[in-house]
Amino acid sequence: MTTQHNSWNEMAGRLQFDGRAVINGERVAAVSGQTFDCTSPVDGRFLAAVARGDAADIDAAVAVARAAFEDRRWAGLSPRSRKQIMIRFADLILAHKDELALTETLDMGKPIRNARATDVNACANTIRWYGEAIDKVYDEIAPTGDNALALITREPVGVVGAIVPWNYPMLMASWKIAPALAVGNSVVLKPSEKSPLTALRLAELALEAGIPPGVFNVVPGFGHEAGNALSLHMDVDCIAFTGSTRVGKLILVNAGQSNLKRAWAELGGKSPNIVCADCPDLDRAVGAAIGSIFYNQGESCNAPSRLFVERSIKDAFLERALALMPKYQPADPLADDTVMGALVDKTQLDTVMRYIDSGRKEGAKLLVGGEQARAETGGFYVAPTIFDGVKNDMTIAREEIFGPVLSVLAFDEVDDAIRQANQTIYGLQAGVWTRDINKAHRIARALRAGTVHVNQYDEDDITVPFGGYKQSGNGRDKSLHAIDKYTELKTTWIGLE
Ligand code: NAD
Repeated sequence: MTTQHNSWNEMAGRLQFDGRAVINGERVAAVSGQTFDCTSPVDGRFLAAVARGDAADIDAAVAVARAAFEDRRWAGLSPRSRKQIMIRFADLILAHKDELALTETLDMGKPIRNARATDVNACANTIRWYGEAIDKVYDEIAPTGDNALALITREPVGVVGAIVPWNYPMLMASWKIAPALAVGNSVVLKPSEKSPLTALRLAELALEAGIPPGVFNVVPGFGHEAGNALSLHMDVDCIAFTGSTRVGKLILVNAGQSNLKRAWAELGGKSPNIVCADCPDLDRAVGAAIGSIFYNQGESCNAPSRLFVERSIKDAFLERALALMPKYQPADPLADDTVMGALVDKTQLDTVMRYIDSGRKEGAKLLVGGEQARAETGGFYVAPTIFDGVKNDMTIAREEIFGPVLSVLAFDEVDDAIRQANQTIYGLQAGVWTRDINKAHRIARALRAGTVHVNQYDEDDITVPFGGYKQSGNGRDKSLHAIDKYTELKTTWIGLE
C-alpha cells in the first residue's frame, strides 16, 4: 500500500456527500422525501442517501430555470461577464481536483489517476473553452442587396434538459452544460442514478463562481422517473441526452410526442479498429488497441471493441497484446498506479459476465480473462478479456458490452474488413492502421463513423466534434459545432430607405 493510497483512503473517510438536489441555488430534498442509496463499486461502501427526484422535482427545477431564462439574469449579463464567470467556474473545478476526482472514483470505480488526469481536467477545460468562446463567436449579415439588411443571429433555445450517463459523469455533464450555458440558456441536469455525486458538486461550484441561482439546476433520480419527466416536459425547449441507444430512442419519442423540443442523442458504439499488415509500428498499434479498449474498464462509448487484424500479422499482434495483460489486471482504484478499476455496479458486472458467457457458447476462443476479479473486496471487477476467432454475427461482435472485452476478427482482404466494420447498427468511431496513405484515406472515407483514427486511437481534443452516424446518435458534442444544438437561428429583416 503506497503512502498516497493511504491518504486517498483517509481523504475518502473525511468526505461528506450531500445527495440532495440543487434547485434555484438551494440544496433540497426530493418533494416526495424519498432517497436512494449511493454505494461505491470500489468496495461496496455506502456514500450517500441521494434525493430520488421525480416529476414533481423536475417541475420545480424547470419552473426556476424558466424564470431565470425569462428575466435574463444570465443571458442578459455582458458576454465578458459570463465569460469571466465560466472561467472562474473552471478554475474552481481545478481547485477542487482531488475532492472531485476522489468522488468520481468512489462513485463509479475508475482509477483515481484517470479521474485526476483526465476527467477533472477535461471537465474544467470544456467549461473554460466554451467560456472563452462566448465573446469570440460573431453573428452574420446575409448578402441580400441594398434594399434591406438581413441579420442572422443566434439566440439561446431557453431551458435545456440534459441527461447523462455514468461512465464519465462530470465530463459528460460538462459537454452539455458548457455550450448550453455559454450561449445563455438555463439548464436542468439529470445525472445517472449510478453516479450522481460530482454533478451535484458542479452545481455548487457554479454558484460559487457566480452563475446566478436557477440557471444551472441538478435533479438526481432514476431514468424512468426524473429522466422521463424531463424529456416529456412541456416547458423544456431542448433535451440533450448521452446514454444507450435503447434509451436514446425513448428520448426522441418523448420529445416528439410532447412539445417537439429539440432533441439530441449521443449514443452507444461498437467501434471497429482495422490493423493492416503494413501498419507503421506494430507495437504502437497493439498498445493503442489494448489501451483504448481497457481504458475506463471498457466503459467507453468509443472503445475499439472489434479488432480487425490482417491474418498474416494476427499471431504477432496477439502475442504482444497478451504480454501487456499484467498491466491491465484490475486493482484498487484508490491506488495511484492502478490502470483498471471497478465496473460501475453489480448489474454491469452481471451484464459483462453474461456477454463473456455468450462468447464462449457461440464458439469464440477465450484467450485471456473471462472471470470476475477481486470479489473479496465487495467491489465489481472483471479481468481484461480477449476473444479470438470472433465472427461478426456473434453477439459479442454485434452488441455493445461496455466492459473490458475485446473481440478479435481476422481478415484477408481489406475490402472485406471495411464491409464487416460497417456491418453494425452503430457508427461512433473507427480506427485504421496502415503506412499507405492512399489506402488509409480510402478506408477512412469508407468507414461510416463520426470519427476515424488513422495510425493512432487515443487523440482527443475539445476543438473537434464528437458524435456518431447511424444509431450512435444524431448530434455532435464538443467544438463550436455543439453550440448549434443550444441556439436558435433568428433572421431579422431591416428595411432600408
Ligand atoms: P442509459 O441509457 O441507461 O442511461 C443514461 C441516462 O439516461 C441516465 O441518466 C439514466 O438515468 C437515463 N435514463 C434511463 N432511462 C430513461 C428513460 N426512460 N427516460 C429518460 N432518461 C432515462 O445509459 P448508461 O448505461 O448510463 O450509459 C452507457 C451508455 O452511454 C452506453 O451505451 C454508451 O455508449 C453511451 N455513451 C455515449 C457517449 C457518446 O458521446 N456517444 C458517451 C458516453 C456514453
